[in-house]
Amino acid sequence: MALIVEKYGGTSVGSIERINAVAEKVSRTHAAGNQMVIVVSAMSGETNRLLEMAKEISSDMPAREADVLVSTGEQVTIALLCMALIKNGEKARSYTGGQVRIETDTSHGRARIQNIDDSRIKKDLAKGKIIVVAGFQGVDSEGNITTLGRGGSDTSAVALAAALKADECRIYTDVDGVYTADPRIVPEAHRMDQITFEEMLELSSLGAKVLQIRAVEFAGKYKVPLRVLSSFEDGPGTLISYEVGRKMERAVIAGIAHNADEAKLTITGVPDHPGVAHSILGGIAEKGINVDMIIQNIAADETTDFTFTVPRADYESAKSILAKVSDELGARGVTGDNSIAKVSIVGMGMRSHTGVADLMFATLAEEGINIKMISTSEIKVSVVIDDKYTELAVRALHKAFELDKKLQ
Ligand code: ADP
Ligand code: ASP
Ligand code: MG
Repeated sequence: MALIVEKYGGTSVGSIERINAVAEKVSRTHAAGNQMVIVVSAMSGETNRLLEMAKEISSDMPAREADVLVSTGEQVTIALLCMALIKNGEKARSYTGGQVRIETDTSHGRARIQNIDDSRIKKDLAKGKIIVVAGFQGVDSEGNITTLGRGGSDTSAVALAAALKADECRIYTDVDGVYTADPRIVPEAHRMDQITFEEMLELSSLGAKVLQIRAVEFAGKYKVPLRVLSSFEDGPGTLISYEVGRKMERAVIAGIAHNADEAKLTITGVPDHPGVAHSILGGIAEKGINVDMIIQNIAADETTDFTFTVPRADYESAKSILAKVSDELGARGVTGDNSIAKVSIVGMGMRSHTGVADLMFATLAEEGINIKMISTSEIKVSVVIDDKYTELAVRALHKAFELDKKLQ
């Protein structure tokens, strides 16, 4: 008997019809002799709908109350799915994050899971029950409801799978696996049978929202057997592989990710002395704003220009913090651009191949796309461009790296 954790995303539980279909699917796997823990997201569009209502009241939402609000979406789907399972003759039981006791820190809206109490789930599983858990949510040590960041149900599922030492964690979504690029943008993209954990980690962190980055981190830390599949059709999906060696005939690049949710800020003419980077970024970090790419250049007059990217939602607040810092440091001024996108190529093959970055730059040049920032690591190259060229860049790179030709 295997213990399987399955997660169904928003589109997969987006209507009563879909919830009934998921219940049927779960019943079949249960009937085959497996123990089942199901994690569900809110119905598609629901989390956004709730956030929109809150924004109508205030643009500056109190974070604690925002979590009380958005966590309701998942509470609806756990109840509906359980009802559908019970109608099918199953013994099923729903749990909110707090009822399981998925304990997190108190960072509302981006909480991190610290501990999962598996005792209630284990007792119910032993009685043959199917467990349905609300994704995306937990509680802090004082019982306040927290949420894990957008796309966080993936993380709930992988963390539960790790805590329960599940035999497999299946992420069911609206695509049938991990593709070489977002299939909504690149019709020629193809599903990969396998992707290495390292590549998946990069793709997720660079914008491929098919798996939340925290979910991939958890999976790697606890070596959770993880697969991404479609809830709409049967198929093998994509396995996240922890093997170091891999078939050599693979393409150099595994995939392309894009993120049009960033903004760039520059503080110019900063007198260059030790501690400058800390003075500039200290205030940004204190506000809890994530800084991604950073570039610093020294000019001939011994001043420095300092550029970095932040999530687009934090652009205005980062800009006003920086304006104050600029005055304090006697810098020349602050400029910004909130219509940029980051496009990245990712692949383990980069470790052993040269000329990868150059092919990327040449391809973008041929399309007349200007590169505003570049950053590299061992297995990725990212560029920042005007966001209006995102789709063109992703498609051109997909072709240039021959990702349309299935190699595996
Ligand atoms: P769910 O609601 O099931 O969690 P998401 O919308 O969060 O689903 O994630 C699935 C979506 O991720 C797909 O519909 C697809 O558009 C997008 N996506 C982006 N990059 C990729 C990729 N490389 N492979 C597959 N899907 C991707
Ligand atoms: N409902 C949450 C969201 O829309 C969590 C999730 O779907 O994973 O972000
Ligand atoms: Mg998702």
